[in-house]
This record gives sequence, C-alpha cells and structure tokens, in this order.
Amino acid sequence: MLKYLVIGSGLAGLYTAHRASALGSVLVVTKKALRDSNSFNAQGGIAAVTDIEDNPEIHFTDTVIAGRGLCENRAVQVLVQEGPQRIKEIIGEGMKFDTENGKLSLGLEGGHHRKRILHAGGDSTGRYITEFLISKVQNDPNITIRENVSVIDFLVRDGVCYGARCWDEERNCEELIYAEHTFLTTGGTSAIYTRTTNPETTIGDGIAMAYKAGCRIIDMEFIQFHPTSLFLEDSPKAFLISEAVRGEGAWLLDKAGKRFMLPVHELAELAPRDIVARSIFKQMALDDRPYVVLSLKHLDPEKIRSRFPNILAKCAEYGYDLTDWIPVAPAAHYTVGGVASDLYGRTDIRRLYVCGEIASTGIMGANRLASNSLIECLVFAHRAIGVAEECGPVGDLPHVDLLYRKDESAAERYYALKRQIAHTMNNCSGIIRSELLLSTGLNLVKKELRELGDVKYEYYDEASRKLLTVAYLIMTGARFRRESRGGHYREDYPMLSEEYALHTVQKAGEKLTTKKVNQE
Ligand SMILES: Cc1cc2nc3c(=O)[nH]c(=O)nc-3n(C[C@H](O)[C@H](O)[C@H](O)COP(=O)(O)OP(=O)(O)OC[C@H]3O[C@@H](n4cnc5c(N)ncnc54)[C@H](O)[C@@H]3O)c2cc1C
Repeated sequence: MLKYLVIGSGLAGLYTAHRASALGSVLVVTKKALRDSNSFNAQGGIAAVTDIEDNPEIHFTDTVIAGRGLCENRAVQVLVQEGPQRIKEIIGEGMKFDTENGKLSLGLEGGHHRKRILHAGGDSTGRYITEFLISKVQNDPNITIRENVSVIDFLVRDGVCYGARCWDEERNCEELIYAEHTFLTTGGTSAIYTRTTNPETTIGDGIAMAYKAGCRIIDMEFIQFHPTSLFLEDSPKAFLISEAVRGEGAWLLDKAGKRFMLPVHELAELAPRDIVARSIFKQMALDDRPYVVLSLKHLDPEKIRSRFPNILAKCAEYGYDLTDWIPVAPAAHYTVGGVASDLYGRTDIRRLYVCGEIASTGIMGANRLASNSLIECLVFAHRAIGVAEECGPVGDLPHVDLLYRKDESAAERYYALKRQIAHTMNNCSGIIRSELLLSTGLNLVKKELRELGDVKYEYYDEASRKLLTVAYLIMTGARFRRESRGGHYREDYPMLSEEYALHTVQKAGEKLTTKKVNQE
C-alpha cells in the first residue's frame, strides 16, 4: 500500500515528498503542472537567522509584533529555532542561495529589524528552491508524481483518513487513492479574489475539503493583501512587486510626488504589510486614481538590474522601467488562517496532516511577517514527517464506490459563479470591510449555497460548493470580529480591541466559537 499521499506540488508538498521518501513510497498529485504553485512564483526570499549579528529571539519578536497579538508563541519559537537548521540542510544538499563576497547575501523586508532574508536568482527565490526540490523528487525512485490530478474529497472512516478521491484530468475520470498518511499541502485561497498575486489554482480546495471532513478551520478572516502589485489598466492580473524592492529603498509616492508613508509609520515604506496596503488603498481614494507610484529613480540602476532581473523583465514586458517608476496597487496575496494544526502538522482527522500556507499553526497571528511562509513549509513538513512515522499500521480499509461524474454543461455555471464570488470577495470582504458589506456578501453566498442544494457528486457543482464554503468561512470570521487587527480591517470598528484577542474557530455543523491565544 502507498505510504504517503502528498496533495500539491508547492514547497510544502515537494519538501514533504523529498523527506518522506527515505521512509516509504510517496505519490505526489497536483492539480495542474508541477510548477503551478505560489511557491514557484515566490520572489523576495526565505527568512531564517544565519548571520552572527542576528538571533532567533529578534526573529521571534519581529514575527510576534507583525502578528498583532494572535501569534502562538510556541509555534513561532519552533519556526525561528528550527528554520536555520532546515536552511543549513538544504544548502548542504546543494541549494544555492545568492552570496556576496563568499557570504550569504541577506535582504531586508517589511517588519524585520535585521537583514535575514536569503534569496536566490535575485528575485526568483521560489523558482530556484522549487526547481532544486523538483530535481530531487524527479530523480527519486521512491516518489511518483502525477500532474493534472485534483483531489475532490478525502476518504475518512471513524475520524481516520486513508486517502483521497481524485479527478484525473487526463483520463477524465474519478480515481480512489489509498494511503497510510495523507499530507494536504494545497496552499491558501487568495485567488478567489479578483485582484490577486496567486495563480488560479489557489482557491482553497484543501480548506473546503478539510472543513467538510470535520476539521476545525481557524482565523479565516485574516487575508493578507500585498501592498504592491503592478497595476495594469483593464487587467485583474496582479504581478507581484516584491517587498524586497522597498527593502532596497524604493519610495511610495502620491499624485503630488510626496512620500505618503513617512507620517504613517516609523518604518515608512517598510511598515508591516497591512498598514502599507491600507495606506495605499486610502491614498488611491484621495488621489482618485487606481494606483500609487513606486519610485526607484533615486536608487542605483545597476543594483536594481542585478537584484531584481525577473521583476525588471516583467515590468518591461508591460512597458514600464523598474529603474524609473511603476504604478502599483494592493492585491489579495496570502491566507493567514487555515486548517487547525498542532506543532507537527496533525489535524483533527488522524493520518491527515497539513503543512504550508493551508495550515494554521498560529505562526502568522493576524498578519504574516514577510518571507516567513517559505520557511514555514520546510520547518513544519519536516516535523509532520517525523510524527507520521510514529503511527502504527493502518489496518483493514473499507471498500468505497466511485461517485463523481463530470457534466460539461455545469462548467459554465461554475465559471460564472467564480467570477461573481471574486467580485463579492473584493467588494465585501476586501481591504476595508464593514457590517453592511459583510452581511451583504454573506447573504449572497448563503443564497448560492441554498440554490446549489445537496451536491450530487458532480465535479463542477462540488467545485462551486468549495468556493462558496471558503467565501463563507472568510466572511463569517470577518463579520464576527468587530475590531481591526492585522489582515482584517473594519471601518465600523477601526481599533484593535482586547476583547477580540482570540482565534475564531469554525467547524462544519457548528456555530463559530473562539479560542484563547497561547492556551493549550
Ligand atoms: C507572487 C508571490 C510571491 C511570494 N513571495 C514570497 C517570498 O518571497 N517569501 C515567502 O516566504 N513567501 C512568499 N510568498 C508566499 C509563499 O509563496 C506561499 O505561502 C508558499 O509558497 C505556500 O507554499 P505551499 O506549498 O503551502 O502552497 P503552494 O505553493 O501554493 O502550492 C499548492 C499546491 O497545491 C496544488 N493544489 C491546489 N488544490 C489542489 C487540489 N484540489 N488537488 C491537487 N493539488 C492541488 C496547487 O496546484 C499547488 O501545486 C509569495 C506568494 C506569491 C503568490
């Protein structure tokens, strides 16, 4: 029997497969092509303490400050203490990060008080690190990779997961995959918004499936909007302009050419992301234009060319010169909450583990510190493999029937709903929220869910249910939280409130509950 089923081929999935293969057979299934992931597109880098001037306690403090009172301290300690070791290991295995005079070259990003961001290929860290792992897993006889296989649902009996129901796009049929351990690494859900930096695969399938299977889903209201994505007239495409560009000294300017972040925060352009994103959003309204200016005119153009070759080329493709100025606007970028997980990736279902962006371990609190997510993938995948190995044999598996069919006539309905939900999310549950907006959005989602009724195992209807479920979870959390904190801002409750220094918990069939921070 297959020992490890890994769902998703981002950094969390690839690293899990790489580490698990020493212990047994691994199958990686991924929705589209192997390189279709957020991880592949990551730019700025990966945060870990590697410099003598830095130490894990400073990394801890920076993470907790960005998390606005909702970080789980034990999880953050795991991240900052174990991150350096994971980095050392992959360097030992041949991963090449950028260096300067023989030393690792370290970048600075928003909210970090030390230069600690390792990067590769200048601004192509995600591509370099995923290519490095792809070269490992593709050459590993214990690992099989299958592209164009989407997981639709889990196989669960008596609270134990023993694999997944999948849709094989190439054969156009359902398939059951049984496994001793299932690793869910399907990433976040930002692509359910209209303006997003994420690829179209990132629509929260894994979160919706885990919710349906009975897992608790935590803090879904916190969506991180990246402050700076390239603004293109008439296009929802939002190519990310890494925070590292501001780390190198780029300025945000209003219509009059003034640096509007200076009076807002001591770190100006490098203030935590939520503050910068909201300030840009407000400035856009004041200036009455859909973007602000990111100016690099005052910086050394040679340094910009060598540090950001990928971003420079992408901007040039759209007629902009990165060494001069570019128009930028915020976009949905990172899902802070997710499936409840302990410090070893364990969920509420035995033998089902989560790692990477889908997991809610409490590291990110209410707001992710830049570059902490790639390192999260390595640290927690490593731990999850360790505990999975300690589980005994799986026992007899029940026989289940194939259930799903694909009705092409339902496709149009699904894509129309996807567009509608994207607009609803942007308008009702975006950077600035309110009771009125959220209740309007929620009513629409509830109506669509009622109309969908009991999904009868049709592929597209099931996909619609997943989209609606994720939208429902985000908006329900956001409506409950009558305060502003991190990636959640309400204009009707603009202040942080101690009353809400807690996690929101949603479980299928139950009302939203809460959980205190830093409580076992
Ligand atoms: C443009 C961009 C730049 C970023 N830059 C940085 C950075 O510099 N540093 C940093 O730390 N973080 C960065 N991030 C965030 C970081 O990239 C992600 O948080 C991280 O890569 C998530 O990794 P993951 O493996 O959990 O998920 P992903 O990399 O998103 O991978 C998820 C995988 O699951 C697959 N999948 C989804 N649904 C299904 C399904 N139903 N069945 C089968 N497969 C499925 C997807 O196709 C994909 O292969 C960036 C994000 C973006 C979008």
